[in-house]
Amino acid sequence: MGSFRTLDDLGDISGKRALVRVDLNVPMQEGSVSDDTRLRATLPTVTELADKGAIVLLLAHFGRPKGEKRPDMSLSLVTRAYENVLGRPVRFVGACEGQLAKDNVATLRPGDIAILENTRFHKGEEKNDPELAKAMAETGDLYVNDAFSAAHRAHASTEGLAHLLPAFAGRAMEAELTALEKALGNPQRPVAAVVGGAKVSTKLDVLKNLVGKVDHLIIGGGMANTFLAARGVAIGNSLAERDLTGTAEEILDAADKANCTVHLPYDVVVAKEFAANPPSLRICNVHEVAEDEMILDIGPAAVEALADALKTCRTLVWNGPLGAFETPPFDAATVALARTAAALTQEGSLVSVAGGGDTVAALNQAGVAEDFTFVSTAGGAFLEWMEGKELPGVKALERA
Ligand code: ADP
Ligand code: MG
Repeated sequence: MGSFRTLDDLGDISGKRALVRVDLNVPMQEGSVSDDTRLRATLPTVTELADKGAIVLLLAHFGRPKGEKRPDMSLSLVTRAYENVLGRPVRFVGACEGQLAKDNVATLRPGDIAILENTRFHKGEEKNDPELAKAMAETGDLYVNDAFSAAHRAHASTEGLAHLLPAFAGRAMEAELTALEKALGNPQRPVAAVVGGAKVSTKLDVLKNLVGKVDHLIIGGGMANTFLAARGVAIGNSLAERDLTGTAEEILDAADKANCTVHLPYDVVVAKEFAANPPSLRICNVHEVAEDEMILDIGPAAVEALADALKTCRTLVWNGPLGAFETPPFDAATVALARTAAALTQEGSLVSVAGGGDTVAALNQAGVAEDFTFVSTAGGAFLEWMEGKELPGVKALERA
């Protein structure tokens, strides 16, 4: 990753129009915002720019209007909630480009903040249409991207604009990139990765990238079952992708060649039915799973061994729960290892970075999300970064 300009490089921006790409794609329930995490994430950048006297113009997408103007996907629906979170007045401007946008913006004063209409009301947004990017650029003097979660998409407001105006990473983007760089770009070794979740198929590229980069690859969740099957272990009725055992073998070989130690569980938590606290629940050696049993979590001995491995590591990157954590007690391994990682982080011996929708939920369930070095709420962008892919929205911010 190259270096990029941040808000520290802005200079005097008083009276300048700052187009700020943010993530305002919040969930709604009965017309109101049901989770304002994403709104809060924008506050450091927005208040800093406003306090420096910029005219702050927020650009964002909302839902999937697919190039149509849909009143139910208008960002006017989010403006009041944003105002509440920010604690300052926020204007809504019913366009993100064109004369209407320019005229409205012309009435704003230094320090004012406005939300511009949903960028995806234009077909050109997702096509990264240069004409649309140009039209948006005419409404601003500089561009700030603070939406890491949208940076894996080359859209007009996430990529195109960055080439047309002086471009800067916002504070949330900067924090995300700094954390990711510490975790996989230029990490302190040894590095451990935990990869869990339901399926191997959704994370093949993640696994292939990680075996070449980390010293310990800890595989849990449903995907561990496919790896166990590849090693000839009878996994009974467990969730697994038997057509991918060949791929799993290739990944194990690649790990071997790269000197990456792969950790598969040697004890597991099994049950005959997938339900909360089922009567058939038991803990057994991985070689003793009966034909009618399912592996639903990794076992306590495995967790202890993993905790010992983490104690020797300096860096951890985590995506995917180790078991079916939504259903008790199959969250036990995830919670226990997350607490170990959190404690090591707090002691200062580990840099820990985690991401993924269910992973964040699991860390919150364990009560340790705050104790990790960094927890990314970006879903797709975080996974693509773990796959080693270049994110177009990040690339466009790099200094030439
Ligand atoms: P993330 O959203 O963090 O990227 P995933 O979506 O890949 O994570 O995986 C999370 C899902 O994997 C959870 O719904 C969890 O219940 C499921 N899972 C984990 N382990 C198992 C298992 N042994 N059997 C069945 N499902 C599992
Ligand atoms: Mg998920």
